[in-house]
Amino acid sequence: MATERYSCVIVGAGSAGCVLAGRLSADPTCRVLLLEAGGSNRKREIRIPAAFTKLLQTGYDWNYRTSEQPQLSDRRAAGPGPGRVARRGRLGDATHHPRPHPRAYRHDRRARR
Ligand SMILES: Cc1cc2nc3c(=O)[nH]c(=O)nc-3n(C[C@H](O)[C@H](O)[C@H](O)COP(=O)(O)OP(=O)(O)OC[C@H]3O[C@@H](n4cnc5c(N)ncnc54)[C@H](O)[C@@H]3O)c2cc1C
Repeated sequence: MATERYSCVIVGAGSAGCVLAGRLSADPTCRVLLLEAGGSNRKREIRIPAAFTKLLQTGYDWNYRTSEQPQLSDRRAAGPGPGRVARRGRLGDATHHPRPHPRAYRHDRRARR
């Protein structure tokens, strides 16, 4: 059996895992293995803003449920949990891009000088 060697192993090809893998692989001496529990991200709804509701409890997410909720007659609710899909852990998500007021960045800019 062939043995592969890697400089580092990243578990989870979600938002953080993909950024990390991209940065680390910029160094040609660094061999990166990125592991993902989910499958392909080639589903149309993954690319449509706010269509994540069509993907919940379908195998494209982790099918998390809440604990029993007294306010729901002790039923367990299905909530929008994390995605389980390569390069879209966030399931395409709602595609909200919060844009803060420019003043919010002033402190950052001063800190970098
Ligand atoms: C329904 C929903 C909508 C959202 N909408 C927005 C939005 O509009 N705008 C926004 O900015 N943020 C949004 N978010 C938040 C955003 O998705 C998260 O903040 C972000 O994805 C977190 O990144 P992460 O890398 O920590 O985790 P994730 O992106 O969840 O990545 C984790 C990855 O690890 C994999 N994984 C887990 N366990 C294992 C294992 N044992 N082995 C292998 N792989 C594993 C998972 O399958 C997943 O792909 C949303 C989140 C959800 C759930």
